[in-house]
Amino acid sequence: MTTIKPRVVVLGAGYAGLTTVRHLTKKLLPEEAEIVLVNKHNYHYESTWLHEVAAGTINPNQARVMISDVVNQKRVRLVYDSVVKANKEEQTVELENSEIPYDYLVFGLGFESNDFGIKGMAEHAFAIEDIDSSRLISEHIEYQFAKYNTEENPDENSLNILVGGAGFTGIELVGELAEKVPELCKKYDIDRSKVRIINVEAAPSILPMFDKDLVSYAKQSLEDRGVEFRIGAPISECTSEGFIVGDDNELIKAGTSIWTGGVKGSSVLTNSGFELVKGKVNVDADLRLPGEENIFVLGDCSWVWNKEEDRPYAPTAQLAMQEAETAANNVRALLTGRPLEDFVFKSKGTVASLGVNDGIGNVFNDYKLQGKSAAAMKKVVDNRSLFMLGGTKLMLKKGKVRPF
Ligand code: FAD
Ligand code: NAD
Repeated sequence: MTTIKPRVVVLGAGYAGLTTVRHLTKKLLPEEAEIVLVNKHNYHYESTWLHEVAAGTINPNQARVMISDVVNQKRVRLVYDSVVKANKEEQTVELENSEIPYDYLVFGLGFESNDFGIKGMAEHAFAIEDIDSSRLISEHIEYQFAKYNTEENPDENSLNILVGGAGFTGIELVGELAEKVPELCKKYDIDRSKVRIINVEAAPSILPMFDKDLVSYAKQSLEDRGVEFRIGAPISECTSEGFIVGDDNELIKAGTSIWTGGVKGSSVLTNSGFELVKGKVNVDADLRLPGEENIFVLGDCSWVWNKEEDRPYAPTAQLAMQEAETAANNVRALLTGRPLEDFVFKSKGTVASLGVNDGIGNVFNDYKLQGKSAAAMKKVVDNRSLFMLGGTKLMLKKGKVRPF
């Protein structure tokens, strides 16, 4: 006689989803549950490398990992389709091409760009959201360079690159652009002085989460490589010509405008009617959707409260992967009738790259890093993430071993 096993459906093969599946396959016996992983594409991508794809300093394929290479298909059914919404009353997930019933749902559909409704941003600015949107940015920038010398009267602003927002993504992106632009200038025979990389930030400082001395190191290092900053200058509009910034509504012109001013959780959360706070679910201590017995929300779709600082933890890959282990433990607890555990985040520190050979970081309980040591640490972190998703084989295949 065959018995029907409870079905655990994991949505998203990002850091949260893939790590959940890895722990579930370790912690559950095959007869305890059926595990289904749903993802839009047949590949996972390293979201933490998307600024490099956007600048064109790495090939998009380096950031992609075939899901079938890292998931045990004897234990996990893979479904490549787009999630439209979850119906919690019927316990089903609506996909573009089918529907899947679930007993337990783990929601890990990641982030989308958040332009806070700024006029023209969605129409005229690029955003870093996934491999395709990031690749589009690097191809557009290269097109501007390729076009420049073919025109009799080229638009002198067409080579300018505007980056809106100087949080982690904006700063890591301008760091990569500072590497890429001289390469493009050489390739297309264009003088470097014709190209401006301009980073616009509303707040009084870049990277407010770092100490002042690390921030001034980062700013100086980027300025030395030709990045211009407009700090304390909120962007109020984006047009086909560039950003409108500051109190005097100055138009800064560019051929490429990129918005890196913030992220929110997947729009599938809204479609599913979940209660949201600033675009994400404020999850319970055990990572469940409030009021729901069998739905966990992880990674960039959730806010997890940091009691010590009385605010949510910043959404990171590090956080998503740690949440995934707790969620897998808690799915097992529900299946076996045991008590659920609360999530506890153990921060391993933070590192921001400033291009290939430079960076800043706070690691190992407030030990500060800057320059090549921070850049080396960033590569260690990137390689560790690959190791955790796909072991030594994946790390050797896709890892970063760039020369210093
Ligand atoms: P994701 O990793 O975004 O995965 C979501 C998955 O869901 C993807 O596979 C996607 O294709 C899939 N998906 C989305 N929508 C659908 C749908 N409707 N149907 C089916 N599938 C769907 N964090 C760090 O800790 N360290 C860093 O150095 C760092 N660097 C970063 C650099 C950049 C440029 C960016 C943008 C972010 C960076 N972050 C970093 C943050 C980190 O990338 C995110 O916090 C992390 O990706 C969140 O993981 P996740 O699993 O929630 O979502
Ligand atoms: P963010 O919210 O951290 O930063 C956005 C920046 O844009 C802020 O500095 C904000 O003041 C600015 N901004 C917002 N509106 C603006 C406006 N109208 N005009 C000008 N500036 C404006 O977003 P992010 O940088 O995309 O990062 C998202 C998350 O991803 C963060 O939680 C971060 O921790 C994580 N991340 C981490 C790393 C890393 O660890 N190395 C790298 C990238 C992203």
